Amino acid sequence: MGQVLEKVLADVVARWFRLRGDSVRFQIGTDEHGVKIQRKAQQEGLTPQQLVDRNVPNFIALYDRLGITYDAPFIRTTDKVRHWPTVQALWKKLEDAGMLEKRTYTGLYCQGCERFMTKRDLVDGKCPDHHAAPEEVSEENWFFLLEKESGWLKKLLTQEKGGYHIVPQSRAHETLSLIEQGLEDVSFSRPKSSLQWGIPVPGDEGQTMYVWCDALTNYISGLGYFTDHEEKEWWDKPAEVTHVIGKDIARFHALIWPAMLKTAGVRTPDRLLIHGFLTCDGQKMSKSIGNIVEPEEVLAKFGGNPDPLRFYLSHEIPVGNDGDFSWKRIEEIYDAVLRNNLGNLLNRVLVMLKKEGSGLRIDAKASDAEQVMQKWESYREHMDGFALHEAVKLIMEWVRLMNAGFNSAAPWTFKDDAAYRINVLSGFSEYLRHIALMLLPFAPDTAYRISKQLNVPYAEKMLAREFVITKEMKQWGSQKDWKKVGEPEILFKPLD
Ligand SMILES: [Zn+2]
Repeated sequence: MGQVLEKVLADVVARWFRLRGDSVRFQIGTDEHGVKIQRKAQQEGLTPQQLVDRNVPNFIALYDRLGITYDAPFIRTTDKVRHWPTVQALWKKLEDAGMLEKRTYTGLYCQGCERFMTKRDLVDGKCPDHHAAPEEVSEENWFFLLEKESGWLKKLLTQEKGGYHIVPQSRAHETLSLIEQGLEDVSFSRPKSSLQWGIPVPGDEGQTMYVWCDALTNYISGLGYFTDHEEKEWWDKPAEVTHVIGKDIARFHALIWPAMLKTAGVRTPDRLLIHGFLTCDGQKMSKSIGNIVEPEEVLAKFGGNPDPLRFYLSHEIPVGNDGDFSWKRIEEIYDAVLRNNLGNLLNRVLVMLKKEGSGLRIDAKASDAEQVMQKWESYREHMDGFALHEAVKLIMEWVRLMNAGFNSAAPWTFKDDAAYRINVLSGFSEYLRHIALMLLPFAPDTAYRISKQLNVPYAEKMLAREFVITKEMKQWGSQKDWKKVGEPEILFKPLD
């Protein structure tokens, strides 16, 4: 489920960028090397390659079922054609720049974290994330000389223009405090005897690259950086390069990665969007507690429709915070928010309009136009600022007000005033047209189905990657060709 939180967050962002008219390259993949995978494969009597080849297609299938609109190729760090050449070329650049140095080293290695830890990182001698004492390891390693970049990193992470911005702000403070405490050089390789499963160090075959040196490079290996199939304009030219990651790996992305890029003469990213962890009913998900929620179970609960889960994660978890998954809560959200507030309003409006047997008559009222403009303005601010939960809140709060407004307008009580009834119903259809557009990054299929039932002219184009929410679409009453609504259908079925 942690994976799902991350991929949905990234997907909402990617969809939003596309909807506002940006060209987007949305890349995801799997990090497949390291001691953890090597040991896991051993336990299962498989080679590491067999293990990852078995698991990765399951991840890809899940992302497809969740409606994650990533761009091909899906990056696998075991890909010797696409990934390895970039990593090895980058290594040589770090070496040529004098940023790698071979040292004999004794340290405490946490396998779970895949990194050497200092005494300062430990709680009662154990890794606080993995509740295990790290192994003492003494070996010869290549080191990446990160410490000397401390001053530059601090500047990069704090400078307003051209800097590398961490979202949300609270996570930025955590990272800066790591710099304040003093950065250490990073072990960037391990002897083959302790780590076979990884990319060999160029020119030093007895050493395997540190998994993070290899994994971080995926962002540019996916673009074929330093090879003959370079598509580097996606990295070099865009207005924004954004990474979406979990809080446990923030230090690698915020500190090591930009220093690697700088050394290699490559532009640094612009934004690091950090998400928290997901608990279940307030407890950490773990095999021993037996409270692991499988995303497939959640999808199955809603008939394979990913929107309730996508909506839940976006609605319940402020970006950057830890969040909780609870079966009870997702059912409540589904019933009360999606089914009752949104689905019923749409259904009531459409059924009554059908009964009128008349076309739409959307009045050009200044107050409606003003209200819609203001909503779009706030929505765009939240979305652009990555406060996605605030945008969802805005949408659903507006839907709640619409329900109240519809009940007080009570068109069904005006038995002798068809003009009034049609007017009110048309107005609410227009409101719902805006709601569907706003929901599009979060619950794309729902947004499409609402628009299709409303019969808005662009409905069939909404799920295409080229679809852009135009200025005109955001204006009240702008759809002049929209004359009639479609067939009402139940948007969200009651749960069994
Ligand atoms: Zn650990």
